[in-house]
Amino acid sequence: MATVNPTEEKQAREIIKKIVLLNAVRYEGKATPKPIFSKLLGEYPQFRKNVNEIAPIINETVQEINLLPLAEQKATVAEKWPETLVEEKVEEIKQLPPLSNVKKYKNVVTRFSPNPDFVLHLGSARAIWLSYAYAKMYDGSFILRFEDTDTKTKKPKLEFYEGVREDMDWLGCKWDSEFIQSDRLPIYYEHAEELIKAGNAYVCTCERLVFREKCQAAQICPCRTFSTDENLSRWSKMLDGTFHEGEAVVRVKTELAHPNPAVRDWPALRIVDTVKFPHPRVGSKYSVWPLYNFSTGIDDHLMGITHIIRGKEHLTNQARQEYMYKHFGWEYPETIHYGRLKITGASLSKSEIVKGMESGIYKHWDDPRLATLAALKKRGIQPEAIQNLIVDVGPKPQDVVLSWKNLYAHNRKLVDPTAKRFFFVAEPLKITVTDIPKSYSAKIPVHPDHPEMGFRTFEVTPKNGEAIFLISKNDLSLLQGKAAVRFMDLFNFTTQKISENNIQAVFHSESYEEARKLSSPLIHWLPVDAGIFCEVVMPDASVVEGMAEYGCKKLKPDDVVQFQRFGFVRVDAINDKLVAYFAHK
Ligand SMILES: [Zn+2]
Repeated sequence: MATVNPTEEKQAREIIKKIVLLNAVRYEGKATPKPIFSKLLGEYPQFRKNVNEIAPIINETVQEINLLPLAEQKATVAEKWPETLVEEKVEEIKQLPPLSNVKKYKNVVTRFSPNPDFVLHLGSARAIWLSYAYAKMYDGSFILRFEDTDTKTKKPKLEFYEGVREDMDWLGCKWDSEFIQSDRLPIYYEHAEELIKAGNAYVCTCERLVFREKCQAAQICPCRTFSTDENLSRWSKMLDGTFHEGEAVVRVKTELAHPNPAVRDWPALRIVDTVKFPHPRVGSKYSVWPLYNFSTGIDDHLMGITHIIRGKEHLTNQARQEYMYKHFGWEYPETIHYGRLKITGASLSKSEIVKGMESGIYKHWDDPRLATLAALKKRGIQPEAIQNLIVDVGPKPQDVVLSWKNLYAHNRKLVDPTAKRFFFVAEPLKITVTDIPKSYSAKIPVHPDHPEMGFRTFEVTPKNGEAIFLISKNDLSLLQGKAAVRFMDLFNFTTQKISENNIQAVFHSESYEEARKLSSPLIHWLPVDAGIFCEVVMPDASVVEGMAEYGCKKLKPDDVVQFQRFGFVRVDAINDKLVAYFAHK
């Protein structure tokens, strides 16, 4: 650093190291330079004048720290800056940015309005949680509205109404009132008629392509010029079945000069042959159905929605609906349009998931490969982890790309402090250890940070100095070429011979210090007869079989525990065997 003296540089390096380590520990061992830079300049404004000298130090430190294992990063933080562990928790409580124009309204009202043609997934969670959290933030109300008016291409299914309610319950969003659009057809008819009477809507019988051509050219179609009486008569012909599907639509008048042709005189209601395409709730009772922009726009006003929080793909819809609001003399609600959310490695696309279900790749909506809420729940992801992730991302308009790791980091923070620890030996191999000098009783804490949670005890009683253990096949590679390997919380041994059916080993020493001196790997284990059969369903739907320690018998479905050196799992079923779903490392 040219302008900084050596003492100052040393200080700077120490501060940077601290910030980098904290950042690394927070993000699974991998720090990124950018947030570190802003944090440093935010907290230590004295470095602002040395930005050019600081940047390379940050990059260098990030590279250096990222090479360290997470455990070592954590140990360093705990040893050098224990106070930051508390500080880190405080800074993690993120807040949503305030809503605009709240004072204008007596009561903030938001809504989540799913089409019940699909299950909820991580993508839908954003609209739900933001809408819910904002309503709560201002002591307002949150409405659940099923938008089930398309019986043809986005046909609702009865199972999904209840499925959506269950998923929302699980996510922790209580709605204050619920509406179903298929109950509200008379309301939409009334408003359509009002628009027609006022000359702000008309019944168009042009062929779709003919209309589109005119529309592209910003020209009016003949139907637009008909008298109000003529339009009302055509409207009743829509309702009484004189017109059939595809023969007439109600259009809302807009400026024909609107720069986006898709906004011009948009369709508000259409005829659907509900004998052919019956609605799952109201069957063939109605054949005139509102289109998305019409029913949504009407409902948002009638339900007193003050703030609409949705994806930016709805911007064009707002442009359409604003014309209708103007016709009625209503004021359009405040809108927040957030950017797209992508999760790398997760398909949030409805059509892809549906295709996978139809072709039999996925058997259920909770298949662990999916990012549906049902699947996340099955894997032991806590609803609070999803809530925190959504608040982290917030309602910003930029597109956001997340990885599963972001969600896992949030979940780990929640489950790690309380999850009981157990040994799970995956794909077990037998290892015979000889020359064991005495009986051992291994007393291992249920949680390393919480002795009050108790201990698990394993008795090892050698016969003629010999005992048989189980270890994970994965650990086989750790056994070779080492002076000693340590069975966690038991003793150290030296491997003698590895053959197909058995591993021969000899007792080495007892103390942990000895193992540390020899840089011995630590592996988990089970006495050969001290486990129950266990299957863990992995995120790729493969199944890992093995033995879990006997104490797992006391677990109940939905318990989230940590299989040490394997990962966090959620117990799904337990009888003569344990079935668990893998959450994350
Ligand atoms: Zn027309």
